[in-house]
Amino acid sequence: MKFFFIFCLFFQVFKIHSQNGKLSGFEKILIKSGMVDLWNVDSTIKIFLRYSTDDNFLGTDMYGDFRKCYLQKDVAEKLKNAQKILKKKFPEYSLLVYDAVRPVSIQRFMWEMCELPTEEKRKYLVHPNSFSVHNYGAAVDLTIVYKNGKKLDMGTEFDFFGELSQPCKEKRFLKEGKLSQKQIDNRLLLRRTMQKAGFYSIRKEWWHFNSCWIDEAKKKYTRIENHFIKDSLEKESLEEFFRKKKIVYRIQILSSKKKINENDNLFGYWKIFRYFHKNLYKYTVGEFTNLEKAKKFMRKLRKSDFKNAFIVVFVDGKRN
Ligand SMILES: [Zn+2]
Repeated sequence: MKFFFIFCLFFQVFKIHSQNGKLSGFEKILIKSGMVDLWNVDSTIKIFLRYSTDDNFLGTDMYGDFRKCYLQKDVAEKLKNAQKILKKKFPEYSLLVYDAVRPVSIQRFMWEMCELPTEEKRKYLVHPNSFSVHNYGAAVDLTIVYKNGKKLDMGTEFDFFGELSQPCKEKRFLKEGKLSQKQIDNRLLLRRTMQKAGFYSIRKEWWHFNSCWIDEAKKKYTRIENHFIKDSLEKESLEEFFRKKKIVYRIQILSSKKKINENDNLFGYWKIFRYFHKNLYKYTVGEFTNLEKAKKFMRKLRKSDFKNAFIVVFVDGKRN
């Protein structure tokens, strides 16, 4: 897992480099909204956008080819300062950004796809109608890593949906032995570094920091609504996008480095659709144009042989 992570980190850095010079329509919108590519402000800060991989709470790559970290200019400057503060104390450490600007369309997708009951969901996700500081490019999710890419132990993973992630309950968990002093010290190092640089921490997630509160963000910055804008500066709503494109939902049950035949016994009687994506063969069952039906089928699969089944989205025949 560790090596996979380090591989992904280098892969993303490589992708970022190879994308330099070519700005997508989406990036042009971000720049027009006052945002900058963090790489251009401080290239020592590590970037690994988790929503641009399958390694996140939905098991779905939501950002596609978008792997750069865009933030409002003053927020990126603050983050550069946070890295400086951290490195002054611990030269071998670096900040590692998991997420920065997050369009409302992605937030809506997360909300709809997350299987938790609404009350539980509210604890960890912002309802798309309420907006998040991420939507304005003024919040950042991050951790601290060693030089070799290994993460400091923060007691939970990023996006762990449970009380153990909550800074407001750390004292209790320390007493109960569920968090160690070292884990809390690591969180404190992240918090103090970010606070010194002018960020605010929140009570529920150790990895999330706001550069300002939501009311100020609404006044100061432009909200980013849509992600699916490819090579056009035109504003296109997600609904319009879905109307124009052919969207198909499939349920992914397995991935492998070696190609497995679709008729292999492993898959039982399921009719398999195989595709190649990000250096792996991936195997799906079912094909739906209706998200609710896809979710229902996914739940059925999870109860049977495929506990880790998740939904993948294909746009015009291509994995999104
Ligand atoms: Zn966040």
